[in-house]
Amino acid sequence: MATTQSPCPSPSPPAQHVVLMGGDKEIEETSHEFCNTFEEMHLKDELRRGIYSYGFETPSLIQQKGILPIIRGRDLLAQAQSGTGKTAVYSIACLQKVDPSCPFTQALILAPFRELAWQTHNVISKMAKFMKGLNILRVVEGGAISVIARKVAEAPQHIIVGTPWRVAHMIYSEIIDVSHLRIFVLDEADLLLSQKFKDKIFDINSNLPKNAQTVLLSTTMPQEIIEVAHQILNDPVQILVPRDELTLDGLRQFYVAVEKEEFKEEALFDLYDSIQVAQCVIFCNSKCKVDYITEDLRSRKFTVSSIHDGMNYIDRDRIMQDFRDGKNRVLVTTDLLSRGIDIQQISLVVNYDLPMEKESYIRRVERSVRFGKKGIAINLVTEEDGQMLKDIQEFYGTKIEEMPANMKELLQLK
Ligand code: ADP
Ligand code: MG
Repeated sequence: MATTQSPCPSPSPPAQHVVLMGGDKEIEETSHEFCNTFEEMHLKDELRRGIYSYGFETPSLIQQKGILPIIRGRDLLAQAQSGTGKTAVYSIACLQKVDPSCPFTQALILAPFRELAWQTHNVISKMAKFMKGLNILRVVEGGAISVIARKVAEAPQHIIVGTPWRVAHMIYSEIIDVSHLRIFVLDEADLLLSQKFKDKIFDINSNLPKNAQTVLLSTTMPQEIIEVAHQILNDPVQILVPRDELTLDGLRQFYVAVEKEEFKEEALFDLYDSIQVAQCVIFCNSKCKVDYITEDLRSRKFTVSSIHDGMNYIDRDRIMQDFRDGKNRVLVTTDLLSRGIDIQQISLVVNYDLPMEKESYIRRVERSVRFGKKGIAINLVTEEDGQMLKDIQEFYGTKIEEMPANMKELLQLK
């Protein structure tokens, strides 16, 4: 039988005064509650079992601060470094709040692209393993509409995890009914509220009941996005990681200087020996370049796979699965994979191109620092990239050193 006691938090440290990443305005962190353990959250028994069987023992900081306000019914704006466990913040809170005996969709979780929605669906489904009668539906591009329609007709789908366009389409087609929704979650909220998705998100939001809670989570939260966010938030609890805490601690960063763009290929081939030691993601700034580099590496008999959003869904799913399973160890990609994808084994990120915006740097390289694990980032830079390299170091207050000769050993030592 589910526990129904109200949560009873420990006394919390005083709210901090923090500065938002990318913003110039100071705003107050407003979360005053703190749960040091999952017990203190007084979760349903079967949910707590699910969390433990998933392998979590104690909540991470963002979970200690963020789960309870959602359970209590508050809107939430949470910004925390990548790899700190934001998925479980909303997953646990949604699972606690959703009532399986109520035959409606009660929580809607959106992610900007399908690989991330898959991953979240997987996490939340595993945590819900012991919750009888609870259904969680994935609604992403590439899945047949008829299958979604059949699942919805067969049984209530209490939680939906999906991508904006697909979910919006399902709502317009009246396949999904969101009129009883209680929680609306945007993961990677800064991207979902950017120009590319904003209108879809507002459209979906306008179909939800006025009293539905809104939960936004992100690694970075530029000021202009905060302003957009406040259009859909109602007096939110704000949990923010101060900018100077958005550090690249635990990450070793290097650069390899090449004179011209054309020489990057050779630099990458030179690195290949080292790269193979680790599970590695290579970031390029365009799809064409991803295709080109992949072909080039293959023509030199290197084993490598690639993924970007110009590829078909079947290939994307297969490549991601093989990479997760460790069948492919080197993956060339665009910024598609710079957000949210959690693959524990990644220990090396190579920026074949430096990102166009310095804010993207942390998202890319943090793929190699998951939950306290150390990683390595290598940047291939031309003379033209010098300014960007300097800007990145200043922005993050970090040092990117010239790559040492014993790179392979460093990777093996990790
Ligand atoms: P974020 O969304 O903040 O980037 P994720 O939710 O993807 O982070 O979590 C990063 C990794 O940390 C995942 O592998 C996740 O399983 C692990 N993790 C999160 N919270 C905990 C916890 N409380 N205990 C152990 N591992 C955790
Ligand atoms: Mg995430």
